[in-house]
Amino acid sequence: MKKLIAAVALALLSQPALAEEAAPEQARWSLAIHGGAGTLDPNAMTPEKRAAYEADLQRALDAGSKILSEGGDAMDAIKAAIIIMEDSPLFNAGKGAVFTWDGTNELDASIMDGRDRSAGAIAGVKTVRNPILLADTVRTQSEHVMLMGAGAEAFAVEKGFAVTPPEYFATEARREALERMKAEKLSSLDVDHKFGTVGAVALDMKGNLAAGTSTGGMTGKRWGRIGDAPVIGAGTYADNSACAVSATGWGEYFLRVGVAHEICARLRFLQATNWLSFDSPGEANAPDAEEIAATVQEAADAVMAEVADLGGDGGVILVTPEGHAIFSFNTTGMYRGRATSAGLNEVAIFGGEERASDTPDH
Ligand code: ASP
Repeated sequence: MKKLIAAVALALLSQPALAEEAAPEQARWSLAIHGGAGTLDPNAMTPEKRAAYEADLQRALDAGSKILSEGGDAMDAIKAAIIIMEDSPLFNAGKGAVFTWDGTNELDASIMDGRDRSAGAIAGVKTVRNPILLADTVRTQSEHVMLMGAGAEAFAVEKGFAVTPPEYFATEARREALERMKAEKLSSLDVDHKFGTVGAVALDMKGNLAAGTSTGGMTGKRWGRIGDAPVIGAGTYADNSACAVSATGWGEYFLRVGVAHEICARLRFLQATNWLSFDSPGEANAPDAEEIAATVQEAADAVMAEVADLGGDGGVILVTPEGHAIFSFNTTGMYRGRATSAGLNEVAIFGGEERASDTPDH
């Protein structure tokens, strides 16, 4: 009956979207990462390029998994995973960030701790090698949630961050994208075809959730444009009672939908009305882990469908208090990976590549 009511409730809330899900049984820890979603063309992906992306995704996944499997904190795990992707020139975050119209690299990041919903964010920063660490320092060492531009950089110096020369972030591929955009009068979507923002979400063995997102924004951005990635509730959200979410995509639409918070709010709503429970799997009539995963997947898909309805695209990763690691995206691909204590460990790029059903535990 509960299941039926949940299905009816979700039918009201949801619309179809391209997505995938996995249902780890009673996972003790869980990690999902992304390196951006977008119009990824399998034919344009050489084996070498693919191997390079997969290797960096796997390194990020392994760094976070190691911390979680050894009993470490979700916050530490997501930072470890994100730093690796910020340092990789392949992703649009830290080194390899896209160029602004003026030829600079301006970085945005945010982080949230599901324990107490403390959050930190920075926007438009040009001299901090790992923006996610500065966002976390805003969270832990200031009274604020969000700092921008020169002020954020002054705060970084005060807190002992090294000043990274702006040239460090520049890569030829991203410069060429800006030049092509200007020469051919293209939009940032035309030159990018994909979003390379990075993010991670985790559940640790203590039951704590965390989420973080880091980006260079969109190619050719002007006038101090800021997308969803550094905005708590749009690109990033974590609440121990509901879920942890990190988004990537056309930021303006994610801002308008309030994607990350909206997904968590729907899960809270489903729990408040007893249609979904993360606390009582195993009890009579309680939904099992797979049913919960399907419900959570539908909630995420419904929010992504709203983004699509407005004309936006992209994707999200999320983990639940039970350890489900879920992806939802309405693009042809999303650089992504997930690992759980139930033995799931995989990276994927195009839609439908998950090998979850092959793993012994599921
Ligand atoms: N969401 C980011 C932004 O709009 C872009 C991305 O996901 O790559 O700034």
